[in-house]
Amino acid sequence: MKKDDCIFCKIANGEISSKALYEDEDFRVILDLGPATKGHALILPKEHAANLYELPDELAAKTLVLAKKMATIMTEKLQCDGFNLVQNNGEAAGQTVQHFHMHLIPRYENDGQKINWIPGEPSQEELEEIKKQITE
Ligand code: AMP
Ligand code: ZN
Repeated sequence: MKKDDCIFCKIANGEISSKALYEDEDFRVILDLGPATKGHALILPKEHAANLYELPDELAAKTLVLAKKMATIMTEKLQCDGFNLVQNNGEAAGQTVQHFHMHLIPRYENDGQKINWIPGEPSQEELEEIKKQITE
């Protein structure tokens, strides 16, 4: 299902034009308008899901297969040195458009970008507590 007021629904389904790199029955892959690096692209499912939690399993699986395919083609064509897949869920995680998307970010030596975090220093006890919280 498409969502009427969703810009990525409109782009994915071709109602708003975009620089599309790939399309099939489930997805459109477009160039990001605010790229982190040259070639930064987005995988957009044509069906609306706000985020990973809402994405049907079948589309979730297909997303990673497509990400691998695009990363392989883009690495060859752009001659990039590395590749990040980034996928944000929720405003706290940096999601600004509430339609599931996966970022395809080619990386180049000295491209000046940082897709990093400040590493914490948890104790063994803290790690054990977190493990319990998630698994029990
Ligand atoms: P996120 O922060 O994970 O929600 O990423 C949203 C991404 O969508 C950002 O990288 C934006 O630059 C990009 N973006 C927003 N609107 C458009 C648009 N109309 N066409 C292409 N990319 C867009
Ligand atoms: Zn949508």
